[in-house]
Order: sequence, then C-alpha cells, then structure tokens
Amino acid sequence: MPVAQSPRIRLLLVEDNELDAELIVDEIARGGFAIESRRVDSEREFEAALADFAPDIIISDLSMPSFSGYRALEIAREKAPDVPFLFVSGTMGEEAAVEAVRGGATDYVLKHNLARLPASFRRALREAEERRARAQAEASLLRAQRYEGLALLASGLSHDLRNVLQPITMGASMLLEIDDERAHKVGTLVKDCAARGLDIVHSMLTFARGTRAAIERVKVRALLEGLALLLRGSTPRNVELAIQLPAGDVEIDGNYTELQQCLLNLCLNALQAMPDGGRLEIAGGREELGEHFFEEGETRTPGAYLRLSISDSGIGMSDEVRSNLFKAFFTTKKDGTGLGLLSCRRILDNHKSYLRVESTPGKGSTFSLYFPLGPVRSGDADAPAEAPQGRGQRILLVMEEAGKLSLLAEVLRTTGYVVHAAQSGSAALLEIESNGLPDLVVMKADMSLMTGVRTLSALLDRAYAGPVIMIVRAGARPTADDLPPVRRIRFVE
Ligand code: ADP
Repeated sequence: MPVAQSPRIRLLLVEDNELDAELIVDEIARGGFAIESRRVDSEREFEAALADFAPDIIISDLSMPSFSGYRALEIAREKAPDVPFLFVSGTMGEEAAVEAVRGGATDYVLKHNLARLPASFRRALREAEERRARAQAEASLLRAQRYEGLALLASGLSHDLRNVLQPITMGASMLLEIDDERAHKVGTLVKDCAARGLDIVHSMLTFARGTRAAIERVKVRALLEGLALLLRGSTPRNVELAIQLPAGDVEIDGNYTELQQCLLNLCLNALQAMPDGGRLEIAGGREELGEHFFEEGETRTPGAYLRLSISDSGIGMSDEVRSNLFKAFFTTKKDGTGLGLLSCRRILDNHKSYLRVESTPGKGSTFSLYFPLGPVRSGDADAPAEAPQGRGQRILLVMEEAGKLSLLAEVLRTTGYVVHAAQSGSAALLEIESNGLPDLVVMKADMSLMTGVRTLSALLDRAYAGPVIMIVRAGARPTADDLPPVRRIRFVE
C-alpha cells in the first residue's frame, strides 16, 4: 500500500542571490520540512508566482537591485493577505525590522543567524493555520446563526398559518354535512385547499426544527482540546486563556459539532466582552443536582451532571441585557446577530441540558452548562400526540362566541363525543336540567353575563363532580381563592 505523503510546503523566495536562496532552502530542509520552492527577483515575476505558484509562505530579502522587500510585502498583503511573510536579510537594523513587522511581516531573521529560521518558519505556518481554522469556525458559526434566524421565522410563520388554516378546515367539514350539492362542492374545494396549506405548514415546521443532529458519545476532553485549538488563534494577547480539562475520561451523550458550536459561541462572546483584556476561564466537573436547582418551567431531573463554566472578567451585563439575552435578534453589538445565545439554548435543549448565567456589571460573567451524565432520554417531545378518540362521553361546552362554539363542538363530535353546546352560563344550567350531568365541562373563564367561576359554582351546587377544562386568556388564570373547590380542573390558555 502506498504510504500517504504529507504535501510539500510551497515556499516562494524573493531573493536575487542564488547562493543565499540555496542556503535558506537547506536550512529549512534541515528543520525537517519537505518543501517545494520557487525563486523570483522582480515585481513582475513575484506577482505571477503569487497567482500560479500559490505559495504557503513567502521569504524575502530586503533590498535587491531591481525590487524591494517592502514592495513585495505591500503586494503580498494586498494579493495574498493570509500567506505568512518572513524577511531574511543581511542588513536589517532594528528600525527596519520594526517597520517590516508593522507593515505586516510575520517575522525577520538575519542571514548570519540562519539557525533561527526553521523555528520562525514553523511558527509562521502554525499561526497561519490557526488563523485559517478560526476564520473557518467563525464562518460556520455565522452560517449556523443565519440558518437559525431563518428557522425562527419559518417556525413563527407556520404557527400563525396553522391557526388560520385549522378553523377553515373545520368550517369546510361543517359545509360538507349540509345536504346541498353546492355547499358540498364548496366544502370539498375549501377542505382540499386548506389541507394543502396545512401540508405546506407542516413542511415549514419540519424545516424549522431541522433534522435532529445525531447523538454520539462525546469525549469531553477531546471536545475542550478542539475548542482550545480554535480559541488559541482568536484570543488577543491581552487575554489570559485558562482551560481546565476535567479529570478522567468523562463522556456525555451529544453531538460534537453542535456542542463545539455552542461553546465557541459562548467563548467568542466572552472575548468580545473584554475589549481591554482579562481572563477567559473554562472549567468544570461533576456535580449532583438536587430538586432546588431546577427553575419554573424546566423538567426536573435531579442527578449527576457535568458542569462546564465559561467565565470572563469583562464588562458584565445590566439587568436589561440579562433579561433579553435569549430573545431572537437581541444584540448590543454593532455587527451582532443576536442569535448566538438563542442557538446555544436550542442546542442545550436538544441535549437535555441546562444553562445558568451569573454576571456582575464591570466584573464579568459566567455561563454554566449542565450536561446529564446519564443517557439522554430519546423521543421527540414536540411531536404532536394523536388525538384520543372519544367513546360517546358527554361534554358540556360553554362559550359566548357562536363561531368558535360551533367549530369546537363539531370537532369534538367528529372525534366521538356527544356535545351539548351552551352560549352562556345560564344556558349551560338549562342544558343540565334537560339532559342531566355531563362527563366533562369545557368552558371559557371570561364570559360577560355569568363568568366561568360563577357558572362552575352553580354546576357544583347541582352536584357536578366531574373534571373541568377552563379556557383562560394568557396570564388571566383565576386565583385559587376565587375558585370553588373543584377536584379536577385544568387551565388552557
Ligand atoms: P450577539 O453576540 O450577536 O450579540 P448573542 O445572542 O450571542 O448575540 O448575545 C446577545 C447579547 O448578550 C450580546 O450582544 C451581549 O450584549 C450579551 N452578552 C452575551 N455574552 C456576554 C458576556 N459574556 N458578557 C457580556 N455580555 C454578553
């Protein structure tokens, strides 16, 4: 089997002296590099070589009879800004060296000290590679964030559209029940169109949710080492980077790429929060989370977790910034997208993980991520459950709006329930008098004549002891003091 060879490094030499050029190539080869070199000593040749030789690195003399090293540097910065550029000169004074580095040269080496060249060459290539990796990571982060924005928009739109299309479908079903040919035709047409609309909405939602990233065993050590590599290229000199790898071979269930995207996002935010430098620390370890850890609205799953904290000593956040952190498009940066943290949150949700933020203005912020150390529970929590089929149970439906009342009644009837519809509390009581007590009561809370709470009391007075579903406006749930003692009540907003 042929042995895979690492590609040769393409070195472009700007040097008029052939002997010096050979010395340079020899010195670099002695450092263990496999190189392919081309020598040029005029502006025209240099420009042509930049285009067709596509060098990985340039080494230039300072002054040549027909060309100047500074001019070569100028051209290289313009035409190949990512290619490292080293000066090797016999005459370079300190001032010239400073000027060269200021002009964008990566380093300079004196010809009488060529032994330094391999180290300088290696460093220049490594830094270029790190810059490339960082640019790639940033580009993929930006792509991911754009996608996130699009998905967000699609998700919002599809929910709105679904709310519009569902009543149309229900109305069409009612038309089909009328014994009239024209009503039937119109009903079929409307129903078909609405069904097609719902299909489109469904595809939009599928796109918005995205295909779920594959779950694998992720070695946390490797994840953090990869992150360190990416960060090294983007950490400014005035920021101290401290990454503490967790002890042992901790593994979590997750998706490596998504996790790296999330951590990188948090680290780049941290770096941006330290314009005057500071310390970025990534640390963590195993923690047992008890019931008290979980906040309202979170699934409570106490147990063993891996905590990873990303701390910066930067500007911190005001209360206003903190309360908006996860809102789509919220940003305080001139060129921010306001999607980074939202995207982190989505990734963490996919990993059944939790996020906590601590911050003090002027002192810094800490984002802590908690990953379950047990297996991630599979199953799609968002998938709509099949509506259960009724078996003739009797439902008393009470709401004032005639349109909604008849639609809902119709849907429940087609699902196998017997429905008694009433447009007010008093009509509901009359219903009970003539048809007896139902198995379930569904009613709106805010009705103008007799409120839901009053109707409920009246039903209890008439010995109703079954379950109640009360439809309330968002945030307008009746307090426990207002409610009569119903045993089984659920609120739907
Ligand atoms: P973006 O980085 O594009 O602004 P994000 O969603 O990542 O979007 O962040 C939203 C906002 O949260 C930022 O604009 C910033 O105000 C604030 N923020 C995020 N991380 C930090 C941090 N480590 N320190 C201070 N503020 C932060």
